Amino acid sequence: MTDTPTFAIRPSFLGIEKSDPAAAICVAGIPYDLGTSNRPGARFGPNAIRQASRMLVDGDHPIAGTAPGTQDIADIGDFRIVHGEIAGTLAAIEAQAKPLNHLVALGGDHTVTLALLRALVARTGPLALVHFDAHVDTWPESFGQRFGHGSPFYHAIEEGLVDPKRTVQIGIRSPMEKSVHDWTLGKGVTILFAETVHERGPAAIAERVREIVGDAPAYLSFDVDALDPAFAPGTGTPEIGGLFTWQAQAILRRLAGLPFRGMDVVEVSPPYDVAEITALAAATFAWEYLALLAPRVND
Ligand code: MN
Ligand code: MN
Repeated sequence: MTDTPTFAIRPSFLGIEKSDPAAAICVAGIPYDLGTSNRPGARFGPNAIRQASRMLVDGDHPIAGTAPGTQDIADIGDFRIVHGEIAGTLAAIEAQAKPLNHLVALGGDHTVTLALLRALVARTGPLALVHFDAHVDTWPESFGQRFGHGSPFYHAIEEGLVDPKRTVQIGIRSPMEKSVHDWTLGKGVTILFAETVHERGPAAIAERVREIVGDAPAYLSFDVDALDPAFAPGTGTPEIGGLFTWQAQAILRRLAGLPFRGMDVVEVSPPYDVAEITALAAATFAWEYLALLAPRVND
């Protein structure tokens, strides 16, 4: 608990004062949205998520019993991007992510995850992937754009960055070509449709995620459009029938102990948001992730 009221805390992630990139965990924003295929605005995501995150600084995690923001963690600001240049931006993101010990990235559209995986895999080898999304994001290209927000996991699989047999996608429900669906399943990816989450419930889904990831080094990529537009209106490519915020939260809370090596939360587009609903959800998912990494208070 702090003496400063939440609304007056500095607008870094969780009000974190530290900005040293040598910290055990670094939070960085990626103000990039040229990969989006519909509504833009995710370039403004990082600051909206930081702003909303200040709701989360006035206590410990109620279930995990950890204090997510009190670890050795720094908010190192936003990554530089090469404006208008997709390949240049991907290379710049990769170079900036590479030296960091453990990165929690605030997007930005989903294109950025490819660069983040390229940076991380140099140290970890192929990663297990826990991917929340309305979309499989395994299109080989979208609308003629080879590296866009619909293609990060096509390239990640093709480049050997993630192990598709240890990859699980949660919340999927968008229209997609049969060829894309079949390619994804053919590689060994597990697709858990939003409807499956609704039918089976978060505990069963979390159990399945744990089976798929096993003991491999893992990455969490959370596209906020996994949530229903009622719970995440502020995003570029909304799809109805999505996860409730509580369902995603309940799944995340059951992933303690998995060997996560990094995380991103992407696709928050503040111009389409209402009353910070989407930004607060994204901030909270990053906070839930940090809660998984933190030691229990008083242990
Ligand atoms: Mn999506
Ligand atoms: Mn996505």
